Amino acid sequence: MSERNLVLLGPPGAGKGTQAERLIDDFDLPYYATGNILREAVEEGTELGREAKDYMDRGDLVPDELICRVIEERLDSGEADDGFLLDGFPRTIGQAEMLEEALERRGRSVTAALLIDTPDDEVIRRLSGRRTCVKAGHVYHVEFDPPKNEGVCDQDGSRLVQRDDDKPETIKKRLEVYHEQTEPLIEWYDERGLLRRFDGTRTPDEVHSHIRATLATLALEAEI
Ligand SMILES: [Zn+2]
Repeated sequence: MSERNLVLLGPPGAGKGTQAERLIDDFDLPYYATGNILREAVEEGTELGREAKDYMDRGDLVPDELICRVIEERLDSGEADDGFLLDGFPRTIGQAEMLEEALERRGRSVTAALLIDTPDDEVIRRLSGRRTCVKAGHVYHVEFDPPKNEGVCDQDGSRLVQRDDDKPETIKKRLEVYHEQTEPLIEWYDERGLLRRFDGTRTPDEVHSHIRATLATLALEAEI
């Protein structure tokens, strides 16, 4: 079987997390979301983890090069021999080049960059409708998953609020950053023939089956 070395791309609110969960289930791939693997490295107290913690404790961004080394450590652990799913890295062309070199040194390469394309207005509609309960963080959506009583958590009766992250102004800023940094990266993968686009306005089931079909085709092509 060919490797599935996958990069997940898309704006916040595109449903990357949902698709990631399904792909991990489908193919038993390790999932490398930047925040998670850094946190795990810190918890395990590895040398890289301690280095990363120094940056985090100071409130500084963990440098690209260090994130890449954390990913490389996981690649060399044996758990990613059949593939992996990266989410949140690479986010820029510089990071993508770093990743490409790291994979090349191991005789490997990215199989596909999966872009879940979702227009800004849809992202804003999805994220700004989220309401979170103050007590336990239960999440609702005013349109897609409303609580029985407006503004009240079904599970514990606590108040529902819109988190700062879900306020339209914050979402617009995150989208600006996304367009600025990640659109050139999308082109970069496209030029290399690695980009696969999926319509993020479709239901999660539809996006998932489209991704599966695409990966099946890629696997067939790799065997020819
Ligand atoms: Zn609650």
